[in-house]
Amino acid sequence: MLKYYYQCTDCGKEYHTDEVIYLCPKCEKENKPEMPPKGVLKTLYDYNKLKEKYPSGIFSSLSKNNFLDILPVHSLDSFPYLKVGNTPFYKINKLEGDELPFQLYLKDESQNPTFSFKDRASNLVSAFAKENRINTIVAASTGNAGSSLAGICAAQNQKAIIFVPAKAPKAKLTQILMYGANIVPVDGTYDNAFDLSIAATKKFGWYNRNTAFNPFTIEGKKTVSFELFENLEQKTPDRIFIPVGDGVIISGVYKGFEDLLLLGVIDKMPEIIAVQAEGSDNISRNINSDVFLSKPSSTIADSISVDIPRNFYMAKKFIKEYNGKCITVSDDEIINASVLLSKNTGIFSEPAAATAFAGMLNYMSSGKIDENSKNIVLLTGCGLKDLNAVQSKISMPDAVKPEIASLDNLMLK
Ligand SMILES: *Cc1c(COP(=O)(O)O)cnc(C)c1O
Repeated sequence: MLKYYYQCTDCGKEYHTDEVIYLCPKCEKENKPEMPPKGVLKTLYDYNKLKEKYPSGIFSSLSKNNFLDILPVHSLDSFPYLKVGNTPFYKINKLEGDELPFQLYLKDESQNPTFSFKDRASNLVSAFAKENRINTIVAASTGNAGSSLAGICAAQNQKAIIFVPAKAPKAKLTQILMYGANIVPVDGTYDNAFDLSIAATKKFGWYNRNTAFNPFTIEGKKTVSFELFENLEQKTPDRIFIPVGDGVIISGVYKGFEDLLLLGVIDKMPEIIAVQAEGSDNISRNINSDVFLSKPSSTIADSISVDIPRNFYMAKKFIKEYNGKCITVSDDEIINASVLLSKNTGIFSEPAAATAFAGMLNYMSSGKIDENSKNIVLLTGCGLKDLNAVQSKISMPDAVKPEIASLDNLMLK
């Protein structure tokens, strides 16, 4: 019995790990470019065997070995030396001076090596590549996945090729170049870059990290759930707010908690709130319909600006099965949430991450957060990645002469 196997999200067919690398071949044949892809694979383990291996204290035992038992690699030495994950987890008691009637926690994923959540996926994909002697990894990205793969590959002495929309925020493009990756700026959208990178993968035989296309992106991202459970001293949170674009982070979070359910570690799934930008709501708008209709996306939150969510069907299945909720917030709410978050907590998030916080504020103001419940906001990326987005909310005073008298007319407190 191999350590893990795959199951197709859509047709349910199971595959040995040496049979496929990306999508379920049967479902992939039917995929059309204007529709979310079917055939995304879920990675599964022999959960009963693990329960026998660790008859008691299973979570602590798994944690001691950094969850290697439920990851698709064989050695912890395959991971980069950079510190991915184990990000800060903060309890926030007050907002705008008011005591919160519920428990609010922030998971600060901007403290990953390349400053976003994406490192969790790149970390695992890179480790898998190392174990399989693959030296070139390619990814399409709105910016963060690309800068993440570029940084992780730099640490692992692997080659990264990154397809990004030429209009991605400058900081993200700069990161990719600084880490020494090959960059392919695409004159088009993220969706165009995605399709081009897949065509290139097929033509040149590279290994591809594209989100959802590579099943290990979900497996890498699930590790945050184990940390959250650990951060809460082995208690299940009541609710988690997650910013959603392609739907891979949210699926990763579900998958992590589902692994814990299957291992008998927990007995209920947290309520997951998928927060999208109004201008890029292709998951929330289609969640209850049988046919998928894409609307071109336009939002200030570039990391979640997606026309064709690449993990639509898996995310939808998880949300339906475990009673998750979808909400949308406007760009104004996102930017205001970013300001409020920075001022109140000292954490400056990029717009996509502030989207999750805006979702929490929206829930709070409509009285949907019950007293004493444990709520987590996943802050997925750092504010320095996109300085343009917040310029309208700040104003720089005129410079003063370096003389003490120039301070007389300033309202300094
Ligand atoms: C990629 C990303 C998201 C959204 O993740 P999906 O898997 O595309 O839903 C949210 N926030 C940040 C900062 C990201 O980089």
